[in-house]
Amino acid sequence: MDDKTKYVWKMLGKWYGYPDCCIDALCKGEQKRGGCFTGTGFVPCTECYDKPVEDVVAHIKVNRWSSEELLDWSARSYNNKEELVFIKNFWRCMGESYDRNKSD
Ligand SMILES: [Zn+2]
Repeated sequence: MDDKTKYVWKMLGKWYGYPDCCIDALCKGEQKRGGCFTGTGFVPCTECYDKPVEDVVAHIKVNRWSSEELLDWSARSYNNKEELVFIKNFWRCMGESYDRNKSD
């Protein structure tokens, strides 16, 4: 994963309110898949994987910038076109602002 991709992942993670430890784990490829968060788009680090789900969700809710509600995550899927478009646009915007910051 290159620096730009890492930066975008960090911003996206912050936007969604994910804990820093999990964002770091994601950037290092050390996140733990499966478990309660399957299908949510959120992949916890090994520590948060073992934490009570309510604690992790509470953290995400408090730190979240996205106005998107935490719905029944199990019902979500990546077949949701609007969500995919949003994520694509978000990544593009983040990449552009990263380029701007870099050239300053
Ligand atoms: Zn974590």
